[in-house]
Amino acid sequence: MPIDQHGDALLDGTSIRALPKVSLHDHLDGGVRPQTIIELADAIDLEVPETDADDLADWFAEKSDSGSLVEYLKTFDLTTGVMQTREGLTRVAREFVEDLAADGVIYGEVRWAPEQHLSSGLSLDEAVAAVQEGIEEGEDAAERQGRDIRVGQLITAMRHTDRSLEIAKLAVQWRSRGAVGFDIAGPEDGFPPSHHREAFDYLASEFFPATVHAGEAAGLDSIRSALIDGRALRLGHGVRIAEDLEVVSRAGEEVLVQFGELARWVRDREIPLELSPSSNLQTGAIERWGTTMEDHPFDLLYQLGFSVTVNVDNRTMSRTSLTRELALLAETFEYGLDDLEVFQLNAAAGAFLAVEEREELIELISEGFSA
Ligand SMILES: [Zn+2]
Repeated sequence: MPIDQHGDALLDGTSIRALPKVSLHDHLDGGVRPQTIIELADAIDLEVPETDADDLADWFAEKSDSGSLVEYLKTFDLTTGVMQTREGLTRVAREFVEDLAADGVIYGEVRWAPEQHLSSGLSLDEAVAAVQEGIEEGEDAAERQGRDIRVGQLITAMRHTDRSLEIAKLAVQWRSRGAVGFDIAGPEDGFPPSHHREAFDYLASEFFPATVHAGEAAGLDSIRSALIDGRALRLGHGVRIAEDLEVVSRAGEEVLVQFGELARWVRDREIPLELSPSSNLQTGAIERWGTTMEDHPFDLLYQLGFSVTVNVDNRTMSRTSLTRELALLAETFEYGLDDLEVFQLNAAAGAFLAVEEREELIELISEGFSA
């Protein structure tokens, strides 16, 4: 399914971009416009590898496809490098929201780690305020163009540092002022959620929701720790939960699968999986199943009744959008509009919002898909 020059694709004659969508796993420092990077870098005398926006977009794609984690991480050094000032953070957040709205997203959660944005002297609180200002400007700008979007912050702690309790407190302080949840990100292998037990205990005592990166660069033990130590209400990306499934037999469409207790829990409790197809391929998260989209266990998880959601992870690095990810899945697994609607309803149900707000989203999605 080709993506046209407007970033859209048609499924059964319907524009995927025009359909109402929910984006749950979307990194702020992974969704910066190349042109903005060039302009912000120029203002602070930061060196950029390419001075033309298209060339810089290619540079991101090349580094991300290189198969080298070191090269991949260089791309984040660049994006976070231009997000160290109030102006930089606000502009990036505003454009982030505008880009989501243009892609048909009606509700999004943007995750980012304030502790990585302090090198120019901002305090944690000032950094969160700057991003919140940008989000609100973006929501207003979208509204002026006739698009309704709401975006909440997922305040993220880095798992290889020791500031998670402080960051958890920051998140709770910003509750009802823009923060909707908490996450831990960074190297998963070797830095399990149990290392951040204090932060998660605190969040639980405040009844503040958490999603946890787990089942991406590490396997079932990491997912177990996310659920037990992190009380994770969602799993980002959680794709390696498929390691707890054993395909016993396949006869045509019939697949007999044996569930481990962990997989059964995640499926039966409808814990949303924040799957990110392109990113999962690029980071090697699904390498035990293969190296192409067809090998992604997305469809297996969906058919077995897991609460699967579709996400972008890092739009700039993967040169993608939610529309593109849905088009890729529809093409690979022959999904129709009904399937795409299920993914959006799953995401709406898993959003860190009050139940009446989630019901509103569900209504908007149902209306949009039936129109
Ligand atoms: Zn992520």
